Amino acid sequence: MYPKPFEYTRAESVEHALQVLKANEGSRVIAGGQSLLPMLKARLYQPTMLVDINYVPELRTVELNDSNELVIGAMVTHFDVIENSLIRENAPILSTTAEHIADVQIRNRGTIGGSICEADPSADYLPTLFALEARVVLKTTESSREVPIEELIQGPFETLVEDGEMLVQVIVPVNRVNYRVEKYARRKADFAIASVAAMADVSSDGKINEVRIATGAMQDGPHRIRDLEKELNGRNVSEVDLDRLVGPATESLDPIDDLHGGPEYRKTVLRAMISRTVHELLTQGDGA
Ligand SMILES: Cc1cc2nc3c(=O)[nH]c(=O)nc-3n(C[C@H](O)[C@H](O)[C@H](O)COP(=O)(O)OP(=O)(O)OC[C@H]3O[C@@H](n4cnc5c(N)ncnc54)[C@H](O)[C@@H]3O)c2cc1C
Repeated sequence: MYPKPFEYTRAESVEHALQVLKANEGSRVIAGGQSLLPMLKARLYQPTMLVDINYVPELRTVELNDSNELVIGAMVTHFDVIENSLIRENAPILSTTAEHIADVQIRNRGTIGGSICEADPSADYLPTLFALEARVVLKTTESSREVPIEELIQGPFETLVEDGEMLVQVIVPVNRVNYRVEKYARRKADFAIASVAAMADVSSDGKINEVRIATGAMQDGPHRIRDLEKELNGRNVSEVDLDRLVGPATESLDPIDDLHGGPEYRKTVLRAMISRTVHELLTQGDGA
């Protein structure tokens, strides 16, 4: 099917994009277009106007701010997240995560801002950004607000981004601790059936100072597995029994039920994946 006809504006700046969004009810941002175009063709979205933000240079920058945080422009592509040396040095888990996304064509066009705003419950960035405790900056012509990623994602394909509002930056606190990212999918380029992003700061004597574990591919979006984190934080690696801890800590999780796998299957895969990934992270460190 062809999309319903729409107007098109190529934005020259953030301000220009925001003004066009405000002036045109029913308008929508187009970033890489990788998720949007199929939605337009299926007529699931019928925008009156597409505001193209591909030619706004200020949305493509990556910087370190004075608070030792990465400030990543919304239009930074998955390819850039893999290649950018500031991101790789200061949040290497994010670069590794981007390597798992789709195929090379999609990584070249798709953007971090587009992926977050799409809020696909199986998207690869979301568990990682939950573990990194990232925030996003949302702007309108009148206002600017910072929202923690866990608040932004309201559910599957649902965010706090309002009409006339645009995601302009992703803020990621620098975090170079050991990490592992695991994704299980039918084929390499597919969305995850189960996924885990885990980070851990472990002392040389084996004490777990801080561990963060998040998962994707749940009915209601990504989750931090805080019950498991609480069980692990402060313990010594030698006294951790993951086989005992992972079952109860994942009991309330509700995996997606679709043609790629039912919830019981996905939960079984997820539990095995968490046990293995966290065990390897705590005992061997990085390996992703
Ligand atoms: C075949 C296929 C396989 C894929 N596999 C994976 C995968 O394995 N893992 C994975 O994580 N992803 C996967 N994706 C999704 C891919 O990563 C997309 O690039 C991404 O989800 C959307 O990014 P985009 O820049 O293309 O956004 P677009 O498609 O342009 O936009 C997506 C949505 O976000 C809105 N939007 C975009 N940017 C902004 C902004 N700055 N402010 C406000 N709203 C905005 C748009 O209006 C639209 O509603 C796949 C996609 C396809 C088509």
